[in-house]
Amino acid sequence: MSSQKKQVIKIKRIISSILCVVLLASLFASCGKGSGLQIFSADNELFATIKSDKAINKNENKAYLEIVVDEASEIISKSQNIEIKEARKALYKNKYKIYTAFDKKVSDNLLKSCDKKDDKFKVAAAITDLNANLVAVYSSKDGQKGTNFATKANRPCSALKPLSVYAPALDDGTVNWSSRYKDSPYKYVKNLEGVMRPWPSNANYVYSEKYAYIYQAIMESINTVAVKCLTDYGIMRSVSFLENSFGIPLEAEKTLAATNGEEEILGNIALGFLSNGVSCVDMAGYYQIFANGGKYEEPKAILKICDKKGNIVYEREHSQKQVIKDTTAEIMNRMLKEVVSPDGTGKAVSCKNFEVAGKTGTDEDYKNNWFVGITPEYSCAVWHDYYFENTAAKIFSDAMNEIYNAKEAYQKVFGYNAPVTQIAYCTESGKQFKQGCSFIKMGYYTQDKVPGICDRH
Ligand SMILES: [Zn+2]
Repeated sequence: MSSQKKQVIKIKRIISSILCVVLLASLFASCGKGSGLQIFSADNELFATIKSDKAINKNENKAYLEIVVDEASEIISKSQNIEIKEARKALYKNKYKIYTAFDKKVSDNLLKSCDKKDDKFKVAAAITDLNANLVAVYSSKDGQKGTNFATKANRPCSALKPLSVYAPALDDGTVNWSSRYKDSPYKYVKNLEGVMRPWPSNANYVYSEKYAYIYQAIMESINTVAVKCLTDYGIMRSVSFLENSFGIPLEAEKTLAATNGEEEILGNIALGFLSNGVSCVDMAGYYQIFANGGKYEEPKAILKICDKKGNIVYEREHSQKQVIKDTTAEIMNRMLKEVVSPDGTGKAVSCKNFEVAGKTGTDEDYKNNWFVGITPEYSCAVWHDYYFENTAAKIFSDAMNEIYNAKEAYQKVFGYNAPVTQIAYCTESGKQFKQGCSFIKMGYYTQDKVPGICDRH
């Protein structure tokens, strides 16, 4: 055989093996597309095809897909009146198409910012839009355990204060922007050694013994003021507010209060040391109210489910609940903006191109670290476990900057349109400024609930 012929045969063989590989690959691809559960993003792009729960583990959007499959199982279970387990099997078997609120760009940028921290601590995050659509989530990998930290409940600590204390107290007029409470112990309690100790302690273990305004108590996360404000509003009233507005499970707290008196749960409610905790997805959902005029709806990932023939078997119907007044939402939003100012506990947030408001939460010994923030378009909760400092605000800031940098068009500022007015108040009385007051500052108030004229000067 001539060397030329040999060459030709060799080339033919190469070509046929390439063809073979291409054919096999396309066969696999079509197989993958055609079988299993197909999951689409908000812009109708197929972003995952999964054949079993096991397959989810290999996907980079594992945390989001788990939520989708859980939600879908519940929907199918209800609509077909079958057990959740059966519904879960049916999902894969019947090859449903699930359309979700997943935003790939947002998710990729969230992943980029959170992934960097994964070697330092467990981190989780959830982002919703302002209409309760779950846009993206992140969860650190947890080896064999496979915990989804985005949906795992943890103590919210001070990140609960705006929901459990300030929003309801502002809403019914118990306090306003410049109401004052002394930063001093609320009471003295025996510690484990039997020594009387002041309670609650502030994060820095110092009491200023000065009066602090409500906006300042939020900005600096002053525990004493949160406790005093809650007792004025009513501990059990707050329990009802949290249950009725958001469905936060507080059975453990109610039992404790019924057994030992309501003061027993003062720390749980005022300082966020909840028995059962809340997740990142929960918190992102709750904080929407501070950016959408006070309306709550539980965040969901799924918008629509179709069967394999394309018939719609489920479509989400929104039902928002007005849980605080639009005026309260706007004033809270302005107070939460102070948190990310240079004097606030969330000063690590550095977003120049769009507005941010939010709240930190730090557990005893840094066991749980939170920042829950809102922008004109999103609500985002970030949590991480033990570290020597709370870096959740920094993670939030990095992620949001990436997300907004990648967006072509976005809202830069919060749209304020509730009947709220800005007036000058006397810094000594916290009431409306008049001739003779020495120092004044500006505060935000509901138009028909401005504080009275200063009675100190
Ligand atoms: Zn005055």
